[in-house]
Amino acid sequence: MPYHCVVCVKQVPDTKNITGEAMKDDGTVNRAALPAIFNPEDLNALEMALAIRDQYGGTVTAITMGLPKACDVLRECLFRGVNRGVLITDRRAGGSDTLATSYILSCAVKKLQADIVLCGRQAIDGDTAQVGPQLAEKLEIPQISYVEELREITDKGITVKRNVGNGHEVVNCELPALLTVMETANTPRPPRVRCMMRMKKARCSTEVEQQVAKELGKDNKDAVTAESAKRFSKLADDGLIIEQWSLEEIEADLQWCGLAGSPTKVHRVQSIVLAGGDYKEFPPTDEGVAAVVAELIEEHTIG
Ligand SMILES: Cc1cc2nc3c(=O)[nH]c(=O)nc-3n(C[C@H](O)[C@H](O)[C@H](O)COP(=O)(O)OP(=O)(O)OC[C@H]3O[C@@H](n4cnc5c(N)ncnc54)[C@H](O)[C@@H]3O)c2cc1C
Repeated sequence: MPYHCVVCVKQVPDTKNITGEAMKDDGTVNRAALPAIFNPEDLNALEMALAIRDQYGGTVTAITMGLPKACDVLRECLFRGVNRGVLITDRRAGGSDTLATSYILSCAVKKLQADIVLCGRQAIDGDTAQVGPQLAEKLEIPQISYVEELREITDKGITVKRNVGNGHEVVNCELPALLTVMETANTPRPPRVRCMMRMKKARCSTEVEQQVAKELGKDNKDAVTAESAKRFSKLADDGLIIEQWSLEEIEADLQWCGLAGSPTKVHRVQSIVLAGGDYKEFPPTDEGVAAVVAELIEEHTIG
């Protein structure tokens, strides 16, 4: 039986290369100043969705909530062969914490009617691993987190192996269901050259408008609108559209979105750089090991 898989992918700041001012005064992340990358574990979630399609048939839709620039990760998905890319973008979604993010994603996933929803275990910026489980709650579907292997999908549901820290468990649940996928689950396939050649021109409507405004000058409003519409319909004819949905189009209740819908406020983000020099040497003897353990217990690092 074919399945419709929806994969939630996130564009994240490359936290290993923080350059400009990471935070804005209102406590939200200054994403424009940070190099952006594809959240690593979302590539594993994408790979699992594509493997399900390879084995059982069906379609794969990739969705992301973010600025129009986040279309870069949707193009990476299109380069790997997904059927559809959807951007949820709206200024009123800015500053969304995990609660608001999962609410907005749930409105989009409901509109897509998925059999299987796949998320990465966690994003490398917020690092909360909360969005996947929260999204499942809002969709009122079962969730299996920390998935490391897909065993099978039958009319009795989906069976996977998940990591429980000091071992594994094999879990089965009915569909629709949500999985959060670990980086150890698979090796993401590389982009396909033919797909890249074709899909590198794929754009969402805002990207087209921004490009035309750059060429014609943004004050030429009527000319920009007319030319953007012409180019966008050409892209549509060529199947090179990245769909773009606002909060209205996913029928989201604004009180649960953005800063308004976010009880969590990110107070400060800073890079922690571990400086050398503050270390202590212990002799490689039983007494030395005992002294290390005693010190770690005293510091409440272990025990
Ligand atoms: C340093 C920092 C700390 C933060 N701390 C908190 C906090 O403690 N609590 C809080 O509520 N918010 C916090 N935030 C805000 C939080 O990052 C955002 O709400 C974010 O959209 C989702 O949380 P996350 O990055 O932890 O994602 P996670 O919950 O770790 O993401 C898990 C998975 O959900 C999916 N996903 C997440 N975001 C998106 C998206 N925008 N589009 C599509 N799929 C997505 C991906 O598949 C991802 O792998 C923090 C942000 C930063 C930068």
